[in-house]
Amino acid sequence: MKATIDKDANILIAGARGLVGAGILRKLKREGFSRILAPTHAELDYLNQSVVHEYFSKNRINLVFFAAAKVGGILANNKFQADFLYENLMMATNTIHAAANYGVDKFLFLGSSCIYPKLAPQPIREDSLLTSSLEPTNEGYAIAKIAGLKLCEMYQRQYGKNFISAMPTNLYGPGDNFHPEHSHVIPGMMRRFHEAKLNGLKEVVVWGTGKPMREFLHVDDLADALLMVLEKYEGAETINVGSGVDCTIRELAEMMKSVTGFTGKLVFDASKPDGTPRKILEISKLKALGEFSPRPLAQGLAETYRWALENKVFDSAR
Ligand code: GDP
Repeated sequence: MKATIDKDANILIAGARGLVGAGILRKLKREGFSRILAPTHAELDYLNQSVVHEYFSKNRINLVFFAAAKVGGILANNKFQADFLYENLMMATNTIHAAANYGVDKFLFLGSSCIYPKLAPQPIREDSLLTSSLEPTNEGYAIAKIAGLKLCEMYQRQYGKNFISAMPTNLYGPGDNFHPEHSHVIPGMMRRFHEAKLNGLKEVVVWGTGKPMREFLHVDDLADALLMVLEKYEGAETINVGSGVDCTIRELAEMMKSVTGFTGKLVFDASKPDGTPRKILEISKLKALGEFSPRPLAQGLAETYRWALENKVFDSAR
């Protein structure tokens, strides 16, 4: 695989309406790629094998970013384990198999850091995959994603296909889910601080003790990294994509105060779960590929807040 992709390659972004897919779409447009396929769910149902195969037979697809997924927070993941396993597994196998049958040159499969064992040593290395038990609350999602990445690995080993996978850390940015309860910490907190400022509240409640540490990556920085991975990475083992920097939830809350302009107090609600104490990916494989300098968190948060205001995401609970 050459290190630069032709600007007129046919590139399919599966899941182009999601947080990750939309970030990849913005990146490819900025870079001047002219033949991007970004079908909606209605146009291409990845759960339907014959529809997927027909799509690949009609469009001569050269490259695939596989960002299609059924995703949810801890509550949804836990409650609908069968749906998460079935849908993510079907979407992955249908698409990877079609890509193999119809001569796709390179396939990049995306998962998330929850594929790693619950008690993996930190920072989490790629080779900790399948070394011990998963976090039970998202086992359905994780098993499907592990099957997908293994399918890519095995197509590579058995048939010499250039199929690879990448595992991103916790993401945030434009297009995120800003629901008050069912979102991840950044959009959830951002909404709460914003509403507290508007309503003149004296304090904001932060879930948990504030002590857990998390790594965050802006989705546009992820897209930069993924294009580099698609161009340069050829390993059978998955590759981690993180910022390499983590912070405590308390530090995140302090940043959120200055980003939103809330001037009141922080109150920590220890009755809410902290989750795992620390979750950060080991990214030396990514760094070995080339220059990667994700934006500082404070900058990314400020940009995301501006985007959220412009797009009126706080006007309704989504
Ligand atoms: P996790 O990385 O899988 O644990 O997912 P989250 O992004 O949901 O939570 C990360 C940490 O942020 C946990 O320790 C939460 O308790 C804490 N947290 C603090 N405030 C919030 C909030 O408003 N929403 C969410 N989702 N988490 C919060």
